[in-house]
Amino acid sequence: MCVQVRKFLSEVMRRIRKTEIDCSSTALDLARADLYFEEIRLHHPDDAVRGSYVMPLVTLRTKACSWSSVSGCTMCGYHLGSAKQQVVGVDDLLTQTRWVIRRLDPNIYHTLVFTSNGSFLDPDEVPDTVRPELMKMLYEAGFRFVVMESRPGFITPARLDALITTVPYGMRKTGKIPFSISFGIESASDFILTTCINKGVCVSELADGAAIIQERSITIDGYVLLGKPFLTAQEDCDDALRTIRWASELGANYLFVMVTNRVAGSLANHLIARRHHSLPSLWRAVRLLEMLPASLRRLVQIKGISHAPYPPIEYATTCQGCHDRIVRGLNFWNQTGDFAHIQELPFCACRERFETDEWANRPDLSLPCRIHKHYLRLASDLDLNPSIVPPLTMLDMMWQKGQP
Ligand SMILES: [Zn+2]
Repeated sequence: MCVQVRKFLSEVMRRIRKTEIDCSSTALDLARADLYFEEIRLHHPDDAVRGSYVMPLVTLRTKACSWSSVSGCTMCGYHLGSAKQQVVGVDDLLTQTRWVIRRLDPNIYHTLVFTSNGSFLDPDEVPDTVRPELMKMLYEAGFRFVVMESRPGFITPARLDALITTVPYGMRKTGKIPFSISFGIESASDFILTTCINKGVCVSELADGAAIIQERSITIDGYVLLGKPFLTAQEDCDDALRTIRWASELGANYLFVMVTNRVAGSLANHLIARRHHSLPSLWRAVRLLEMLPASLRRLVQIKGISHAPYPPIEYATTCQGCHDRIVRGLNFWNQTGDFAHIQELPFCACRERFETDEWANRPDLSLPCRIHKHYLRLASDLDLNPSIVPPLTMLDMMWQKGQP
């Protein structure tokens, strides 16, 4: 069943990209990596330092995520920053890493995200023979904790073991390996991962990948999506809450809730342009924090709300009058974990409109029915043969199978 939905959404994503993305982009300078900073809170006992921290996010300039090349997640735009026509060689990866070491002082930036355009553990992006070399360079330069991102399919015991041996023995003998692997979890529902996000990954693959990581005393963290297409605000928040609980039980130390923004070439952008979807109000993120029990809330930081490595067309907002104060309050929450910053957010009439409009939306049709209608409309918009649209009975069965 999954296969037919995946086939359909892959075709949808290919069509959207073809019509909406300008592929004639200028060549990237392969002698440097992309560098970007996020204000976050380090809270885990294993962290080098705890508290508010400006985290460098290094993205090696590699080819795009393998999934985005053949299909693609419905909200993603990370492939926009990839080396499209250029071939990235081993020397380029070494040069980019040397550039990072020159640019970042490990006395200031003890912890960093060091990853590639899609999956750091994908050998097509970073060859298996080079990856440990890059990691060794970072630890020898004095960095103390490295976070990398990967799709779960690339996690293998051999790849992780090759990385562990590069960590200086003094750091290993505590039994805790000073790196973490981040997953784009998005949702812990196979139905939503397949029909709304087109993630190309199912929940059991995430759990299997996490087990291989944790057997080696490596930590995991993850991204959870808010503002998923086709869902109502309540369905979206309920799913985010279930996902956060699932990831916490899996042992994730950090969960970054990514609020969907509008990115060129995404399904979200295609739907928004035709008024079939809208970005979530930022009040939805506030609602989610309010819904979460304190034990889960402390794991969560809200991201994608004010800056991004590759700037989107539009960010989620509230209204012009309160937007800056809400973003500031969410960022203060991220940096301190002090919930009073959320409780003390100013009242604005737009919160009331959110409650009575976006939050109160209770459609008559079931979720599979609504998704099926969207699929039919997409097929028509994109000039696809309607016979490739997965039938409603199939979506219904997948939905029932995925119910807790
Ligand atoms: Zn407002």
